[in-house]
Amino acid sequence: MKRRYDIVVVGGGMTGLTVASLLAQGRSADALKLTVVDAAPRPRFDPDEDIALRVSAIATGSADILDSIGAWQMVVSARACPYEHMRVWDGADDPDGPSTLKFDADEFAVAQLGFIVENLLIQDALLKVLDRTDVNLRFDTPIAAIVRTESGHCVQLEDGREMDADLLVGADGARSLVRESAGIEVTRRPYAQTAFVTHLRPREQHGATARQRFLSDGPLGMLPLADGRISVVWSTTDVNARRAMAASDEELGSMLTEASDEVLGELSVAGPRGTFPLCAQHARNYVLPRLALIGDAAHAVHPLAGQGANLGLADASTLSRVVEEAIRKGEHPGDRPVLRRYERARKGANATMLHLMTGLNQLFAAGSPTIGELRRAGMRLFNVSGPLRERAVKVALGAGRR
Ligand SMILES: Cc1cc2nc3c(=O)[nH]c(=O)nc-3n(C[C@H](O)[C@H](O)[C@H](O)COP(=O)(O)OP(=O)(O)OC[C@H]3O[C@@H](n4cnc5c(N)ncnc54)[C@H](O)[C@@H]3O)c2cc1C
Repeated sequence: MKRRYDIVVVGGGMTGLTVASLLAQGRSADALKLTVVDAAPRPRFDPDEDIALRVSAIATGSADILDSIGAWQMVVSARACPYEHMRVWDGADDPDGPSTLKFDADEFAVAQLGFIVENLLIQDALLKVLDRTDVNLRFDTPIAAIVRTESGHCVQLEDGREMDADLLVGADGARSLVRESAGIEVTRRPYAQTAFVTHLRPREQHGATARQRFLSDGPLGMLPLADGRISVVWSTTDVNARRAMAASDEELGSMLTEASDEVLGELSVAGPRGTFPLCAQHARNYVLPRLALIGDAAHAVHPLAGQGANLGLADASTLSRVVEEAIRKGEHPGDRPVLRRYERARKGANATMLHLMTGLNQLFAAGSPTIGELRRAGMRLFNVSGPLRERAVKVALGAGRR
């Protein structure tokens, strides 16, 4: 009888559930016993409830990955907002000025540039896919410790039970226990910014446009939601974020209307609020023998270009392909040379995005008038450079392609 491999995925976020779904439906599924463990309760999407606070801009490449496992149709038919236009401008300029970066789906012959989707909805759709497979889903399952064994790793649960893994996948987010237990170091660089997030109702229609205004304290992202509201991600000083949390609805509406330069007229608060500390983080290694990190466990990037989840889905896609190929060739999927194929394919691409986001954030935060003028001149040049624009849009559209 053929050997079966135990793969334990720690983390039932978007990336962990995606890798489990891809492996469960892949050509080597018969050779795998898959388990997903998460300390939190199982996430559930309820269409009668309000749009959740956490939403992500999902690139079409990522939508393709979710489509390939049968999750995307559930997402779009529930509550996804396609966006067809993108506008990015310098806080010192006019949103319709010559230096504003403009991208339109038409120009690139695609129906939309991407979709704004609740994280919870994506998780829920993936879980419905997984419910139809024999993947063992264990939510509400805190982990006490993870130890290296001769043949792999042993995940020791707080309830005293243990799970042995021939391959352990760490998809447990930025503060990954898997990464820490394995002693993998991270390079970390705080941005000295906090992301303040809420939903607002704009006086004017959002017009299926994702907007970003770069202020000296950090970017203000305005993402269109399916019901006409916008989701605001305001990356700002910790003090401003605290003020925003404590402000009355009226005060907060005025703060954000001003920060948006009234691009959509007056903004009224219409949703919950939350803050997220921001930090650039990259694991020194993505893999060790019998272990691989994916998603935020491997890298955390600034949300300014909405790439974190997209990079995580691309990791999930590449890792599942590498594992499948190894099994077909008779290799152990947890061997380091096998897992290095995944690391080589993804680490460079993720590092590039990380540096780009950190650089952009610094460039726009630079207060000097000379840098400001150079920045705007660069944006004007970018606007008239066909190949550069095309390259940028290809990256944005296809960040998740397999
Ligand atoms: C304000 C903000 C806006 C963003 N906007 C975008 C965007 O527009 N587009 C985009 O692509 N990305 C965006 N991102 C990034 C995106 O949210 C993350 O990259 C993505 O959610 C990471 O998914 P993940 O599955 O890797 O990790 P997570 O979502 O962090 O999931 C980790 C899972 O592991 C579980 N877990 C953690 N520790 C343990 C443990 N010890 N034991 C068991 N389980 C554990 C958790 O319960 C959780 O379910 C944004 C981020 C922020 C902060």
